[in-house]
Amino acid sequence: MRFYQPKSLVELFNIYATLSPDNATFLAGGTDLMPRYERGQDMPDHLIDLKRISEMNQIVITADRVAIGALTSIQDIHDNDLLKTEFTALRMAAHDFAGAQIRHRGTIGGNICNASPAGDLLPALYAFGAILTIQTSGGTRELPINEFIIGPGRTTLQPGEVLTTITLDRNKYDSNFQKVGLRQSMAISVVNVAFVYTPGFSRLKIAAGAVGPTVVTLDSFTTAFLKDSSNLAEIIHLIEADITPIDDIRATAKYRRQVLKNLIRNFLTS
Ligand SMILES: Cc1cc2nc3c(=O)[nH]c(=O)nc-3n(C[C@H](O)[C@H](O)[C@H](O)COP(=O)(O)OP(=O)(O)OC[C@H]3O[C@@H](n4cnc5c(N)ncnc54)[C@H](O)[C@@H]3O)c2cc1C
Repeated sequence: MRFYQPKSLVELFNIYATLSPDNATFLAGGTDLMPRYERGQDMPDHLIDLKRISEMNQIVITADRVAIGALTSIQDIHDNDLLKTEFTALRMAAHDFAGAQIRHRGTIGGNICNASPAGDLLPALYAFGAILTIQTSGGTRELPINEFIIGPGRTTLQPGEVLTTITLDRNKYDSNFQKVGLRQSMAISVVNVAFVYTPGFSRLKIAAGAVGPTVVTLDSFTTAFLKDSSNLAEIIHLIEADITPIDDIRATAKYRRQVLKNLIRNFLTS
């Protein structure tokens, strides 16, 4: 296997152009990729480390937006002052994420491209309406995160495309993130959920993970709740319209349904 460490996107695309797409893989923090190889997945002939591309490892704040480089570590998401105050759910998700070693190594881009239904940053990114920027040597495309992730471990990323930036509008919404795992830390979420809202709930977006093949937004429920918030007990069942949880080694579908209802009920009434 050959290992490459380009220092810019231009250098990356020049290297990539010389390789066969079937045999080249991008590496960010490696916290998803390396365990896969340890479990026996074939290693590629060419591994391209993105970590030295500094233009993908910065958080750029403008008046209306924040643009998070895909190589930003989970720890840097956690430590950023603006994210803490304006995108609290994302910061809370980074706080509840793995242990210190993984938080320093793992990246936001890796969490998105890995496309796990239980990925902890994803509910907040869905609820905030994150826009992803994808680049190739030929150009750039942008799309919302819910159109990028299309199934468990599946995205619309084409060979040679790199996720470079995650952009969030600075709407100054309040937000919150809740995670239930089999233990407090170092545990994959059994259910995770992000709430993005305005005071008094004139606006509310709820996105939940590990209750379907991708993170889902609970639009049927929130539409009913926004019409009549006094009716919570009668409408909570509407979350069923948007979720399709399964039984797996971590929990049953029934348990996930109940946990999600409890998290939503507790949050909206607290
Ligand atoms: C012990 C342990 C605990 C964990 N705990 C959690 C947890 O609590 N919550 C959670 O959500 N996850 C957890 N994870 C999973 C993992 O740490 C995260 O998903 C992390 O964000 C992955 O980022 P990475 O940079 O390491 O990705 P990598 O492993 O480097 O890459 C993952 C995939 O994305 C592709 N990729 C990465 N970046 C890009 C890019 N910019 N453009 C194109 N393709 C790209 C890679 O080719 C690869 O296919 C844990 C993992 C371990 C080993």
